Amino acid sequence: MTTHGSFRAQLRLPLVAEKQLLESLVHGATDAPLEETAQGWRLRHAFGHIALQPQSSSLDILLDAEDRTSLAYLQLGITHRLQSLDKSLDLEWESDNTPGMPLPYFREMHVVSTETLTPSMKRVRLAGEDLQRFTHGGLHIRLLFPPSGSASPSWPCIGRNGEAVWPGDKDRPVARVYTIRAIDPNRGHIDVDMVLHEGEAYPGAGWAARARPGDIVGMTGPGGGEAPEAHKLVLLGDETALPAIARILEGLSCETKAIVRLEVANEAEKQPLPTRASLDLEWLLRDERAPGTTTLLEEATKALPIEGNDPDLFVWAGCEFAAFKAIRGHLRKTLRLPNLQHLVVSYWRKGVAGVH
Ligand SMILES: Cc1cc2nc3c(=O)[nH]c(=O)nc-3n(C[C@H](O)[C@H](O)[C@H](O)COP(=O)(O)OP(=O)(O)OC[C@H]3O[C@@H](n4cnc5c(N)ncnc54)[C@H](O)[C@@H]3O)c2cc1C
Repeated sequence: MTTHGSFRAQLRLPLVAEKQLLESLVHGATDAPLEETAQGWRLRHAFGHIALQPQSSSLDILLDAEDRTSLAYLQLGITHRLQSLDKSLDLEWESDNTPGMPLPYFREMHVVSTETLTPSMKRVRLAGEDLQRFTHGGLHIRLLFPPSGSASPSWPCIGRNGEAVWPGDKDRPVARVYTIRAIDPNRGHIDVDMVLHEGEAYPGAGWAARARPGDIVGMTGPGGGEAPEAHKLVLLGDETALPAIARILEGLSCETKAIVRLEVANEAEKQPLPTRASLDLEWLLRDERAPGTTTLLEEATKALPIEGNDPDLFVWAGCEFAAFKAIRGHLRKTLRLPNLQHLVVSYWRKGVAGVH
């Protein structure tokens, strides 16, 4: 039986519907097929349901979802898809996510405490309300750093086309992507482990270096996918992916074999990595190589004891852009590892600010 979520949205498009067009609208959003219904088509999506109902000279898109965040993500996905088909479309949703209200996937957070984990990693504990939705549906968040000196920051709100409407230039916060290292919705806090890379003026690293109890920061999410599951799991990363790898390892069962390669600056950057999985861990220390070496992770990937035709294998990696390209190329071209068995993401790019 089809279940219906309690939150709804509807969009009327001035189009004559063709099934092909409808399929292209939702293509990539889900693997589920379009089911034919009395009124048109319907499909299941991780965030809820999408119904497409052709009228004589228009097309109605109806959404339902279990919570406002999922509804907002569905709206956003469809708006972006439609805009990529036709930029001039003026889209206006009728939605339980009323235009002008705060983004359902936004929380204002404040710093409770900070802890120096290693010379270049600081843990920031952030408190806020209603964090249950951040326990599932993705490991990652965006932190929104208000312009410095702003005592009561302005935050984005929901627009009529489902996209965020941001405060004007002077008040606009700057966003950077981070990982929820740990979350306790009952106590109302999350931990974020932030790299203190060179450059105090950078929004993320600079904010982390200065963070004090009481500081305000915005947070949107969650997103970016859940922890991977496999009997043989390879986890590759540098300092920026260390929080995600540590969280993934904590959640593994004793049946998993985890092969972990972590590139960090030096011995002092190592952290304990508790896990029930059987662990094959190697730290790759940059200071043991020539200055400027950035190929440790790529070399370690090439030396891994894995085969591309192993159906029990999943490879997950988060790292700098050049390493990302090399690792993904090796997995795809040399090992021919199927797309469903790896996720390699560029977490930052040398010399480029705010890549996400
Ligand atoms: C899904 C995802 C999850 C992430 N999780 C985390 C996390 O949990 N903790 C974390 O610290 N980071 C994490 N990152 C990486 C983080 O988003 C980037 O490092 C981001 O660029 C930091 O923003 P910034 O304002 O400090 O620097 P930016 O303003 O973006 O960049 C300024 C300069 O600093 C350089 N730079 C950026 N990051 C680094 C770095 N790590 N080392 C050296 N130079 C750098 C840039 O190349 C640029 O030249 C994650 C990224 C993604 C995509």
